[in-house]
Amino acid sequence: MTKLQDVLDEIAGEAAGASDRGVVAHYIPELAKVDPNQFGIAVALPDGEVLTAGDAATPFSIQSVSKVFTLSLALGKLGDSLWARVGREPSGNAFNSIVQLEQEKGRPRNPFINAGAIAVADLILSGHQPREAIGEIVRFIRYLADDDTIRIDERVARSETEHGDRNASLAHFMRAFGSIEHPVDHVLGVYFHQCAIAMTCHQLARAGLYLASQGQNPLTGAQVVPAQRARRINAIMLMCGHYDGSGEFAYRVGLPGKSGVGGGILAIAPGIASIAVWSPGLDLVGNSKLGTAALEQLTRQMGWSVFGA
Ligand code: GLN
Repeated sequence: MTKLQDVLDEIAGEAAGASDRGVVAHYIPELAKVDPNQFGIAVALPDGEVLTAGDAATPFSIQSVSKVFTLSLALGKLGDSLWARVGREPSGNAFNSIVQLEQEKGRPRNPFINAGAIAVADLILSGHQPREAIGEIVRFIRYLADDDTIRIDERVARSETEHGDRNASLAHFMRAFGSIEHPVDHVLGVYFHQCAIAMTCHQLARAGLYLASQGQNPLTGAQVVPAQRARRINAIMLMCGHYDGSGEFAYRVGLPGKSGVGGGILAIAPGIASIAVWSPGLDLVGNSKLGTAALEQLTRQMGWSVFGA
């Protein structure tokens, strides 16, 4: 795998010198403080080896990347009945858009836009207090990464709560349609805390390995989700993982991926690798600018796109 390490070093070297790095998320004040001059990448292989370059050991706010893990957790609890509450079509709209919710009577288009993830958080809350549900999500991610040091950044959670009017609007709107069962502040408490989980690229790449390995975590041997479910989650990531930038991401990178406004992206090369990349500066639709460019270069040089060379 020396070629892969060479490619990663080259990508990190180019990222270090990039002048146009995008803009960090400003609507969450705690994220606005993050230094944009950072870049990390990690590739986890099914044999457990992890190759890294750049700031791959620096924790960052995973934000919406968490939605892949909460979807996996909720599907494990509810199975396909989850799809009565949330769709699986690309939205073509911004991640925090409210317009479709009214037309579609409170059923979010997919589990990766904010409305959809809030609906999934409501499902995870069933039978629990918010604190227990948050604990369950953190434990699940620690189990996936096989790493008990993963934590929630409480300052980010507080910052999101204090500036969460937009997400509160989405949640109230859905509750008015009966698509959310629990009190809005409980649901948002779960949602904001899942988004505020901090992970390094190294940890995130390991956590995503089950999606590259037919649902099985090769680090522990555990079957996290059935193989068919891993395939379906990858399909939703490809179609919906980058919001209204999903088409562009598929065009440029050609892998299932999920972005977050912290600047992280988890991308899956099925059967080959789980890749985490992080650079805080975002493009106009809220996806990591250098992260996307790095994945484009990686898939091109390694021939990893699911659509062939
Ligand atoms: N916590 C962020 C929000 O709710 C997540 C958005 C994202 O990462 N795209 O706005």
